[in-house]
Amino acid sequence: MKVSKKRAAALLAAVCLAGMLSACGGQAEEPSSRQIFAMDTAMALTVYGTESSAAVQAAEEELMRLEALLSRTSEDSPVTALNRAGGRQTVVGEELTALLDAAGTYSRKTGGAFDPTIAPVVLAWGFTTGHNRVPAPEEVASLLETVGMEHVHLDGGTAWMDPETQVDLGGIGKGYASDRMAEIFRRYEIPRATAALGGNVLAWGTRPDGTPWRVGVQDPRSPEDSSALACLLHLEDAFAVTSGGYQRHFESEGQSYHHIIDPATGYPAQSGLTSVTVVADCRRDDAAGLPGNGTMCDALSTALFVMGEEKALDFWRTGGLEMELVLVTEDGRVVVTKGLAERFEEIEESGYRYEIVS
Ligand code: AMP
Ligand code: MG
Repeated sequence: MKVSKKRAAALLAAVCLAGMLSACGGQAEEPSSRQIFAMDTAMALTVYGTESSAAVQAAEEELMRLEALLSRTSEDSPVTALNRAGGRQTVVGEELTALLDAAGTYSRKTGGAFDPTIAPVVLAWGFTTGHNRVPAPEEVASLLETVGMEHVHLDGGTAWMDPETQVDLGGIGKGYASDRMAEIFRRYEIPRATAALGGNVLAWGTRPDGTPWRVGVQDPRSPEDSSALACLLHLEDAFAVTSGGYQRHFESEGQSYHHIIDPATGYPAQSGLTSVTVVADCRRDDAAGLPGNGTMCDALSTALFVMGEEKALDFWRTGGLEMELVLVTEDGRVVVTKGLAERFEEIEESGYRYEIVS
């Protein structure tokens, strides 16, 4: 399928502003919409159904609760308490230990490409504080000794880590939040909704006319222009989570450095990919025993970005997890796994070459 850039922009706007458009169009079904800033991210909710106002309110409260739970920068979050515990066993609660446990599982499954104990390295690069700098190679090497989920221990609502180890759930937190959004939509019997938590999108049900939601995959070459897309996905009951170096980066001496760190080197991953989108079902829980597919998509989008095209596709084929991928490459290709073949649109004039892989 092909779609012009202009139409793509209109369709993306339709996802983001479904409430406004529907209201302007005078359709019977009026959604409740809300913009929220939480977890350092601009978020947008659009919710339909008789319980939409109550669901939006519950969703906002839940996002604020999760921010307080997972923040690495706030003084009194359980994550901060754990990071400052200096090796002591700390009560962090069942929810956080379940999320840390899931993070550990995805870390193992991805051979360490996803690793929340990368925290001290992310801090050294200044991505936590906003004071970006290029750390010296010796500093990176010494910090890497603290990295690895083997340094984290969990037991019934408590956690303890080696004294120098720290965790950063930035690579999984919004995905977990999107799982929680799905849970709220289920509880309030919401028929259709979208929740865009930065690059983590939940497309719940269908659009009011019964067709799938249109979710744009941002063109990593034009991060400032939200209408510039690499492709469009037609999604119904799905999570779509995108990780890309373009989302957070800084320049130093003519060189660009982004926020997704390869735990094998301690440097921003240079894998030939500019973004990875992971798509999975939001009703069925394929991540048995783990927090849910939103969490899975988030952990994997970060990990597969680190791995690069070849390893990411191998993981898709053999990893045993039910999900589909859109990989955007530095050399101008959009690689789409076959489960999305009928659910994506090319963008005319984007200049990308499109490949479906099986
Ligand atoms: P995402 O946008 O989901 O790809 O997550 C990126 C964020 O996760 C970064 O801003 C860091 O806080 C953290 N992070 C960076 N590299 C990794 C990694 N290899 N594994 C887990 N978390 C990471
Ligand atoms: Mg992620």
